[in-house]
Amino acid sequence: MVDLKGQYNTIKDAVDKSVLEVLDSTAYINGPKVHEFQKNLENYLDVKHVIPCANGTDALQIAMMGLGLKPGDEVITADFTFAATVEVIALLQLTPVLVDVDPNSFNIEVDAIKKAITPKTKAIVPVHLFGQCANMEAIMELAKEHNLFVIEDNAQAIGANYTYSNGKKAKAGTIGHVASTSFFPSKNLGCYGDGGAIFTNDDDLAHTIRGIVNHGMYVRYHHDVVGVNSRLDSIQAAILDIKLKRLDAFNKARQKAANAYDKAFETHTDIITPFREGSEDNHVFHQYTLRVLNTDRDALAKHLNDNGIPCGVYYPIPLHLQKAYQDSRYNEADFTVTNQLVKEVISLPMHTELDDNQIEFITSTVINFVNS
Ligand SMILES: *Cc1c(COP(=O)(O)O)cnc(C)c1O
Repeated sequence: MVDLKGQYNTIKDAVDKSVLEVLDSTAYINGPKVHEFQKNLENYLDVKHVIPCANGTDALQIAMMGLGLKPGDEVITADFTFAATVEVIALLQLTPVLVDVDPNSFNIEVDAIKKAITPKTKAIVPVHLFGQCANMEAIMELAKEHNLFVIEDNAQAIGANYTYSNGKKAKAGTIGHVASTSFFPSKNLGCYGDGGAIFTNDDDLAHTIRGIVNHGMYVRYHHDVVGVNSRLDSIQAAILDIKLKRLDAFNKARQKAANAYDKAFETHTDIITPFREGSEDNHVFHQYTLRVLNTDRDALAKHLNDNGIPCGVYYPIPLHLQKAYQDSRYNEADFTVTNQLVKEVISLPMHTELDDNQIEFITSTVINFVNS
């Protein structure tokens, strides 16, 4: 699905040099590389505060802790996403409220959020799925009206733009009250281990969160709040700083591959290519996900694998049907889109090193199977 080795080969000299500098400095934790990367990411995103941490799941949890959400508070999120999103809500003893998604963008459906709001609702977590922002303008308006926090799960859309209806643009993860991201190796900005970060424009919240990631300490050995231990190490920061400089180029390579896929599938009515809202820079294609109609999706996946083509099904089971997250209040009629998508979606290889021959082989193998 990804070609981490091919990408590493293109940046090997810079990465190796930077990593060796960290080894030589022995500043393995909270070294200058972490601070440099933090500043560079703040500039890139045009956000006031980036707080690095250990992974994207921690980032989400810490964002929720920072907002002071309390057990029993309801948090609305999408039924069609990676489990990390709902997991941290449940871990903090908040009440997850899963809602359906839009059939085109696969992102959380604004009307479904509206319907799910109760007096206990405290936050909405839109996930910018597969590399494209949820409908943030409508979500922020709704949040304002009901006095709710918005936490963007930006693990899949770093570098994507969001375009407001007036044409103004902002980077994904800088629109809500706070956002989380992941630097897992296969993400668009991935390190060579685990990493994550929290973004916010709120000075007070940033201060609170900086203490939470460090055992609740604001002054050494004074523990004012219950915190966690969640750090980005200096070696990962050194790698991320090299890759951040190339993030736009990496995302462009993904968009180019997506355009080639789109073109190959253009005339095939049973193959629905990813919907894109607005201009090309709005979608950074963490995944290139098709919907296949009148086709046995699992048989297609097997056929691709038999031909040496990796593929993935993100996600095969709606979260509301997962054992850990079932809730008697849910009604199947409220999840018609997710229930359908889990049967139809298939994600093709998507990374920065795809070439025309690979794309031609992948698309013709898909088309031959769907047409047969
Ligand atoms: C990857 C991912 C996470 C979790 O990130 P980790 O770094 O693996 O903890 C959270 N949410 C979404 C949508 C993701 O894709």
